[in-house]
Amino acid sequence: MNRSGLKTIGLLCLLLGAFSATAQKAARIHNKAVLIDGHNDVTSASIVQGRDIAQPQPDRHTDLIRWKKGGLDVQFFSVFTGPVARNPKGVYADAIDQIDSLEALISRHSQQFLLARSYREIKKGIKQKKLVSLIGVEGGHMIEDDLRKLEALQQRGMRYLTLTWNNSHSWASSAMDETLHPDSLTHKGLTEFGRSVVKRLNELGVLVDLSHTGEQTFYDAIATSARPVILSHSSVYNLCPVFRNVKDDQIRAVAKNGGVICINFYSGFISRKFDEKLASLNTAMEQRFTDSVLKTSGDIQQARKQWHAYQKQELEQARPTVSDVVDHIDYIVKLVGDDYVGIGSDFDGIGSVPVGLEDVSCYPRITAELLKRGYSKKSIRKILGGNILRVIKASF
Ligand SMILES: [Zn+2]
Repeated sequence: MNRSGLKTIGLLCLLLGAFSATAQKAARIHNKAVLIDGHNDVTSASIVQGRDIAQPQPDRHTDLIRWKKGGLDVQFFSVFTGPVARNPKGVYADAIDQIDSLEALISRHSQQFLLARSYREIKKGIKQKKLVSLIGVEGGHMIEDDLRKLEALQQRGMRYLTLTWNNSHSWASSAMDETLHPDSLTHKGLTEFGRSVVKRLNELGVLVDLSHTGEQTFYDAIATSARPVILSHSSVYNLCPVFRNVKDDQIRAVAKNGGVICINFYSGFISRKFDEKLASLNTAMEQRFTDSVLKTSGDIQQARKQWHAYQKQELEQARPTVSDVVDHIDYIVKLVGDDYVGIGSDFDGIGSVPVGLEDVSCYPRITAELLKRGYSKKSIRKILGGNILRVIKASF
C-alpha cells in the first residue's frame, strides 16, 4: 500500500475512534440519567385488550423489553377514552376499566413494574430498577362534571389530568375546537366549575396537564393553578404550526409558572413538510388518482388499494428525523432556558413516528443528538427527566 493509502486508513481509524468515544459518552450519560416519558397510549392501545406488554409486541411501539433497551425509568401511562364511551356506563367507567387493567398488569409483573403515587415511591422504584408507572388521565370529560369522581380517580392513582382531549366539554374548551370549530363552542376557556377543578387538582397534588387545551383554557388554567403545570405531549408551534402545538407566549408562560413542556414525537406535530404532504393527499387528489387508475383497469377496489399504497409511501418519505425532534427541544431551550422541556413521546397513540424514533427502544438517539449539538451532561439530564421530576416533586 502506498503512503497516501496508509494515511487514509490512519485518518479513518482516528475518526472511528472519535465516533465511538462520543457514542460511549452518550450511552454513559443516557444510562445514568433518569429518563421520564410524559405520555404513552399503550394502555388504551394494548393493555385494556388484555395484551401482556411484558412480552414482545412487534406490531406496537411499546413493550417492556424495548423500554429497557431504551433506558426508560418512568412512564406516565395515559388513560384515554374519547367523548363516546366504550363502557355502556359511560366515560368515567372507561377510565376505571383502564386503570383496572393497568393495575392487573403491574401486579402480575410486580418484579418489573411499580405503580407509583409519590415522588418518594418514584425514587424507590428507580433504585429497584423497575419500570416506574404513573397514571395520567387524558380528558377532563372523564370526571363527568363531578368532583367526587375526580377525587376517586386520584385515589386510584391519577397523577395528572389533561383538562381536555380534542373534544371540548361542559367546563373547558379544547385546542381543536378553539382553533377549527370556534362556532361550536358554548363557552371559551374554563368555566367557574373548570376553575374549581384546577383548584381541587392543586389541593390533591394532581398535575394540571394543558396538552390538547385551547389557548383560552391554557391561560385560564395557568392563572388559576397554584402549582407548576405540565404539557404531557405537545411540541412547538413556531416550528410546526398546528393547533396542538404551543406558541412562544405559551412557552414563556409555562417557564414563568415553573412547569414543563414534554415534546410529542408525532411526525405531524414535528414537521411542517409532513403536514403539507398530508394536506396535499386530500380527497381531490384521491379522486384524480383513482380516476386515472380506473381509466386503465376499470377496477375500483384495485384503484383504492393503489391509492392507499401511494398515500402511505408519500407520507413515509416525508417523515421527519431525530434531529427535527431535537430542534423542538432546542427551540424551547433557546427561548426560555433548559429547565422547562422534557419528553412526551405519545408512542402507541400516533400514526407516524420520525425516522430513528420507531419505538420505545430509540430514546438514546435523542441523547446522542443533544450531545452532538454541544449540550452539557447537566442540561441533558434535565431534559431527559430532571425537569419533569422537579414538577412532580412540587406536587406529589
Ligand atoms: Zn393526546
